[in-house]
Amino acid sequence: MERRMPGRNFLFVPGPTNVPDRVQRAMVVAMEDHRSSKFPELSTSVLNDLKKVFKTESGQIFLFPSSGTGAWEAALTNTLSPGDRILAARFGQFSHLWIDMAQRLGYDVEVLDVEWGEGVPLGRYEEILKADKRHQFKGVLACHNETATGVTSDIAGVRRALDAAGHPALLYVDAVSSLASIDFRMDEWQVDLAVSGSQKGLMLPAGLGILGVSPKALAATAGARSKRCYFDLADMIKANASGYFPYTPPLPMLYGLRESLNMIFEETLEAIFFRHHYLAEGVRAAVLDGWKLKLCAKAPQWYSDTVSAVVVPESINGAHVIDVAFRRYNLALGAGLAKVAGRVFRIGHLGDLNELMLMGALAGAEMAMLDVGIKVAPGSGVAAASNYWRSHDPIPKRKVSREEQFYGSHSTGSIQG
Ligand SMILES: *Cc1c(COP(=O)(O)O)cnc(C)c1O
Repeated sequence: MERRMPGRNFLFVPGPTNVPDRVQRAMVVAMEDHRSSKFPELSTSVLNDLKKVFKTESGQIFLFPSSGTGAWEAALTNTLSPGDRILAARFGQFSHLWIDMAQRLGYDVEVLDVEWGEGVPLGRYEEILKADKRHQFKGVLACHNETATGVTSDIAGVRRALDAAGHPALLYVDAVSSLASIDFRMDEWQVDLAVSGSQKGLMLPAGLGILGVSPKALAATAGARSKRCYFDLADMIKANASGYFPYTPPLPMLYGLRESLNMIFEETLEAIFFRHHYLAEGVRAAVLDGWKLKLCAKAPQWYSDTVSAVVVPESINGAHVIDVAFRRYNLALGAGLAKVAGRVFRIGHLGDLNELMLMGALAGAEMAMLDVGIKVAPGSGVAAASNYWRSHDPIPKRKVSREEQFYGSHSTGSIQG
């Protein structure tokens, strides 16, 4: 008989992430008329506030009732024509799937295969773009955070490569597992199409494909001849202009999004990025210093602050660790996908999360590893993470003025020393 699992399931896959209680409660709503005169208050507020999360003023945000994959498709089909050339790098299952989609939609993709564990090869991008004197590449794809391998790429560097080549191609970025957890700057990096989804850093269930579109990309939609219907931005622009959708929007998701945005602004984006880095460093201390194992990410420049892919010893199947963690300890770890299936297990560390929640995941992963015969020292992962977190600040150090230091932050400045 199945053992009933008391207590909470420890959800540590890199999406869907934990939905905070506040967001869950905000989503328990009665259905209402999405064509009422009141509905635009909600839709307009979330669309405007998402711009702050994308760090864009000039861009426009689109919400589709889909997962992130739908927003991938919306980005491509609204801005390209069949046969258009695209440059893309493949270094994990998600960068692979976007390339696969582009090929199936009929684009001509120049694929740069990169070792899994590294990210976007900036030098090769620049070389290829410089050689493309006739500007045949219409788009350049980059996966900001490859969730399959725990690798973060330098999107500012991709922009620099385009600029160094004086190349006008549109820049398409997958920011699904980075938005609202790793710094993402749509305007500063001149990202033209920024793709995201609801179930990662935004702390919601899956169900919204989110797309940021630059003015340059919006202009490109006019000449883009790819067939599109459900994901046509033109329909969305027309309806959104008055605060409505061209079809029935998922109301609970929008109420949940409103609450998750409230939480993000209360904590502040900068504190969220800092927290993700701080928590990730503790996980990396556990993996590298505690367990003496390797990460799939080949070097610190690639380390992801939202997910770590832990390489298991050759004689062990990583899927076995994941299965024991789930069945015995009620802990969900991320599977190794495609090329790294069986070779790694992944710990997602993004969204609504703190040190002690992660301690549960580290302790559970360690117990499961010991159970399947991986010789890590018992307690070593938790000890290394504990050492890291206890010796580092969980929030960014703020520059404190001398006066504030002496008189507190409410000083009027009138007190004379
Ligand atoms: C989760 C994810 C996606 C989208 O997946 P969906 O299941 O369609 O939401 C795309 N790219 C990356 C990097 C992801 O992590």
